[in-house]
Amino acid sequence: MHNKSVAELSAGLQKGEFSSEELTQAYLERIETLDKNLNSFITVTAEQALTAARNADQMRQAGKAGSLTGIPVAQKDIFCTEGVRTSCGSKMLDNFISPYNATVVERLNAAGMVMLGKTNMDEFAMGSSNENSYYGPVRNPWDQKAVPGGSSGGSAAAVAAQIAPLATGTDTGGSIRQPASLCGVTGLKPTYGRISRYGMIAFASSLDQAGPLARSAEDAAMVLNAMAGFDPHDSTSVDREVPDYTANLTESIEGLRIGLPAEFFAEGLDDGIANVIQAALKEYEKMGAKLVDISLPNSGLSVPTYYVVAPAECSSNLSRFDGVRFGYRCDDPLDLEDLYKRSRGEGFGAEVKRRIMIGTYALSAGYYDAYYLKAQQLRRLISDDFRQAFEQVDVIMGPTAPSVAFDIGEKSDDPVSMYLSDIYTIAVNLAGLPGMSIPAGFVDNRPVGLQVIGNYFTESRLLNVAHQYQLATNWHRQVPPGYE
Ligand code: GLN
Repeated sequence: MHNKSVAELSAGLQKGEFSSEELTQAYLERIETLDKNLNSFITVTAEQALTAARNADQMRQAGKAGSLTGIPVAQKDIFCTEGVRTSCGSKMLDNFISPYNATVVERLNAAGMVMLGKTNMDEFAMGSSNENSYYGPVRNPWDQKAVPGGSSGGSAAAVAAQIAPLATGTDTGGSIRQPASLCGVTGLKPTYGRISRYGMIAFASSLDQAGPLARSAEDAAMVLNAMAGFDPHDSTSVDREVPDYTANLTESIEGLRIGLPAEFFAEGLDDGIANVIQAALKEYEKMGAKLVDISLPNSGLSVPTYYVVAPAECSSNLSRFDGVRFGYRCDDPLDLEDLYKRSRGEGFGAEVKRRIMIGTYALSAGYYDAYYLKAQQLRRLISDDFRQAFEQVDVIMGPTAPSVAFDIGEKSDDPVSMYLSDIYTIAVNLAGLPGMSIPAGFVDNRPVGLQVIGNYFTESRLLNVAHQYQLATNWHRQVPPGYE
């Protein structure tokens, strides 16, 4: 059952070939045996999953099943889940049991989906390799020496290894697309505001956006249908109709104008990756698409801009973790100040502390204008580049990441080289645009993702463009050896 697509699983449930309870049991068994090595889950909620599966089977018997009813899903451990530990990959929240569900969780539950558990991630979603997790690194199912990417590394590895048919992730600077690329799965970061952030632990609020990780664009479209939409609990969610994202998948892409930013194919891109991307572009040409050379002149500024904006916002967001209200509290504090200092000092890992310090500095009275204000101005220029590009083209394509999965430990002592993993993804978050990563080939037996970027609220178009490629190619069907 585990190698079926979500549409196939949905049809199997509908025809009564298997029950949700059987399906859920099968995935739980795979997690039990295969995740010992991968470490893609922080918490497995087996009992709750089986109860939810039985409820889904009853919904179906009562004639109330939708297309996702009874389908298992793994939730990134950044989404609050009522009664279940929500750690955000941090010692700070190791003991935090959320009293409520994030809207994303509520919506998938309401669709009858069955949560298998909570997936591993970089602490507070800060990282590109999942090595910043308090719960240890996740291994890439394609090569156990390699990282799965991050911060949604657990979700990407779980879907690649087929121990979950679908997973949720969040993307602040690339955290859905980059791990999707490194693990050979399909990941979608929607337009900022498309999905509610309520109950999604905040890293950088003006950049954070939830989205699906799946084995295909079709599967991603099915789950996006349930995730997207306005939420009165999140004032940044957009009140705009949610189309049926599966409706346009089969449309022809004849005449599609694909923009190729010169800056995405310049120095720094691995040759092997460049070849894979060129081959994918040829495939699109065969389908009738036109390639158009474009430029995003300010894209070189996106990493430095992001590393002012994201730390600034995180230093503010993470001030709530003070040892008083949430999570970890140090033993025997001498006084209030000692309680704050030691709870935060002991509860946060090195990367989180680094970001809080950078952000606090950038926001301080003497430096605000020089750093934060300047970064906001650059952010506007970066968005304007895209606005101009979308006057000429329908989508933009390029690599998702500058290299394939690197080895565990290879970059962990070099934050700047780690930050550059997101050189092609970060500008998309700064502009608030939707972006996808789809499997497009391999270099040294490690997966390569093609990035597809669209204009605001064109998720249907992106999914259509990705689906057409997946009809013509088999890269998304490859399964890591040992996980067939
Ligand atoms: N890798 C980037 C960072 O460390 C992006 C992370 C993310 O998208 N959550 O901030």
